[in-house]
Amino acid sequence: MAEKFSTKTITEPQREIEVCREADVVVVGGGPGGIASALAAARNGADTILVERYGHLGGMATGGLVTIIPNLSNINGEQQIAGICQELIDRLHAKDATHCPRKEDWGSDEESLVDFYINANQFLFYIRDDLNTGKKRVLYTALVDPEILKCELNTMMEEAGVTLYCHSWGTLPIMEGDTVKGVIIESKSGRQAITAKVVIDSTGDGDLLLPAGAECDTNLYPKTRIGALAFPFWIGNIDLNKYDEFKTSNRDKHDEMTRELADRGGAPFFLRDLVRYHDGVVWFHPFFPCLDQSDVTELNRVERAGRKQMLMTYEYFRDFMPGFENSYIALSSPQLGTQGGKRVIGEYYMTEKDMVSDEIFEDTIAVFANNDTKEISAKHPNICIPYRSLVPKKVEGLLVACRAFSSDHRIQEYFNLIPHCIAFGQAAGTAAAMAVEEDIQPRNVDYQTLQRNLVKQGVIIPGM
Ligand SMILES: Cc1cc2nc3c(=O)[nH]c(=O)nc-3n(C[C@H](O)[C@H](O)[C@H](O)COP(=O)(O)OP(=O)(O)OC[C@H]3O[C@@H](n4cnc5c(N)ncnc54)[C@H](O)[C@@H]3O)c2cc1C
Repeated sequence: MAEKFSTKTITEPQREIEVCREADVVVVGGGPGGIASALAAARNGADTILVERYGHLGGMATGGLVTIIPNLSNINGEQQIAGICQELIDRLHAKDATHCPRKEDWGSDEESLVDFYINANQFLFYIRDDLNTGKKRVLYTALVDPEILKCELNTMMEEAGVTLYCHSWGTLPIMEGDTVKGVIIESKSGRQAITAKVVIDSTGDGDLLLPAGAECDTNLYPKTRIGALAFPFWIGNIDLNKYDEFKTSNRDKHDEMTRELADRGGAPFFLRDLVRYHDGVVWFHPFFPCLDQSDVTELNRVERAGRKQMLMTYEYFRDFMPGFENSYIALSSPQLGTQGGKRVIGEYYMTEKDMVSDEIFEDTIAVFANNDTKEISAKHPNICIPYRSLVPKKVEGLLVACRAFSSDHRIQEYFNLIPHCIAFGQAAGTAAAMAVEEDIQPRNVDYQTLQRNLVKQGVIIPGM
């Protein structure tokens, strides 16, 4: 929790701020939710601005080195998430910058295929246990090259006519009563204002929500995925054949070494990259329990602890693990791995009960594969997402398209991933453009028209 070093306060003097742009839609945050929001808004005719604090787009999917886009199919191999997410994968595929199980393998439980993907060392993402049959099955999950993705996202923004404000923090919503009218940004150019008819909060952490007066759920719990920050890093130039040979022929010694590293406080677990040209690169994603991932003291603590742990992990592998002799630290995550935070209380608040309801909402804007909740997944392989979970209660002119969507911690734990946030963004951006076009509030867009527009863009909506 935030450590307070002083209890004093100061009063900021009132001042005039330059309006640097007037737009239809401004999206704050250029992660998975934000890129899809901006693309969808612009492609649907809105003059759109995307504000991002770093110099690149992609959020955790690029700068967080979280380069796995999982659960695109359910356990039966039926694709659930498509739209902009599929478009990204197709574009990366054309550049040899992605890897995924072949389409004909999705849903397969054939042992040789399952073993093939397990041996590829992406078993966590390419394979799931099917509790209905007791067999393992192959999923549709894609790995992506983060550097090519950053470039491709810029190209897509350019093609769609989105105006980028990178190196700019969205700090405060501009309010008129309960209505958001734009956003204050801070950058090397100083403090400026962008006005807009609709603002989309895609900051992941929901930075605009509390200042806009939106009610939020801030509950995070220890020992959950979302109750931790991460410090991802890559080690490169590994002779993985030598490592595999050692691991196979000296299993006990290998396991003893990984235990020893863990005892010393290192991070022994890694996954290997399968994207072409990434041979000999492995990823580590060590976690650091943290229940307030927007607290700058906590961010500083984990930044320091993560770097320390990375160095000792690397030195241990290099000095003792066969295959790592000539390795080097290829990259540490430019953005700390943030995965949980406040969520808006929206017109529909998603809870655990939605995982077992099988409800197709009248405003369903996406359907997600439910592959990770064991017995629940076995009975309920999909979950629908209502548009209302992106619409804050009471506040007008604002949509939420990121992991801060309206949900309890259980829904967050399983359904705030990259493809999910892309799907929220595609719906929010489309709805924002419709609201601008019709001069109405986002909460009043017609659900069926929104759904038809999404389907036209390749989004999968049950029954349509
Ligand atoms: C270690 C780790 C492993 C994970 N594993 C997976 C996985 O395997 N697969 C998967 O799909 N998901 C995984 N996730 C979760 C996933 O990465 C996130 O849930 C997802 O990226 C959320 O997308 P988002 O758009 O909500 O937010 P983010 O990805 O956090 O993007 C938010 C963007 O907004 C920007 N931003 C934030 N605040 C501001 C501001 N005030 N002004 C301007 N810009 C701002 C940020 O710089 C960032 O670009 C993992 C996460 C971590 C940390």
